[in-house]
Amino acid sequence: MTFEDFKLNRQLLNAVEEAGYQTPTEIQQQAIPLVLAGHDVLGIAQTGTGKTAAYALPLLYKIKFAQGKAPRCLVLAPTRELVMQIGEAMTSLGKYTDLRVLCLYGGLGPKPQIEALNAGVDILVSTPGRFMDLYLRGEIITKELKVMVLDEADKMMDMGFMPQIRAILEVIPTKRQNLLFSATFPAKVESLSHEFLEFPTRIEV
Ligand code: AMP
Repeated sequence: MTFEDFKLNRQLLNAVEEAGYQTPTEIQQQAIPLVLAGHDVLGIAQTGTGKTAAYALPLLYKIKFAQGKAPRCLVLAPTRELVMQIGEAMTSLGKYTDLRVLCLYGGLGPKPQIEALNAGVDILVSTPGRFMDLYLRGEIITKELKVMVLDEADKMMDMGFMPQIRAILEVIPTKRQNLLFSATFPAKVESLSHEFLEFPTRIEV
């Protein structure tokens, strides 16, 4: 199997080639068609399996066809480092699209992030706390969000982000596609998945 077998476009396939990816990994083979088809997905996968591209590629493809002024996709991750890593992967895979990716995290003043939000963003990658902070300041428009991703959900539960995630779910559209990725599947993540996902397809690699 190759990346050409997926229903992706030339801009994305060129970026995949430049990234040096030749064969889709196991999680990519399973997740890409499901995400493209609009399913909710529960992915049990460790870092290193290629899980970021497994959701980034189909989402970059889908968002192109959901034009808007406000962000259409929100990815939540537990730490600043992970947010930056995901943001870099999405920016690099999306480099031949005109989609704008913005990373939000704490530890610095909000001004540059607010300016970037005002300039226009298609995909937000954020820690839960910073997202809610900027939302409550009135800086994030959520009404056009179509997809939400929880990455490293087990780590987010361990770090006590459940209340923030619940608060975020209250302020985004209910009709949306949801993806949850976790390296492990303890009870806390299982109950989060019941709350968050609708008729999910489960993938385990
Ligand atoms: P991740 O599991 O998303 O953290 O990805 C782990 C590493 O694998 C990253 O450095 C990716 O750039 C790389 N990667 C992702 N997909 C592929 C692929 N299909 N072939 C080769 N490397 C890949």
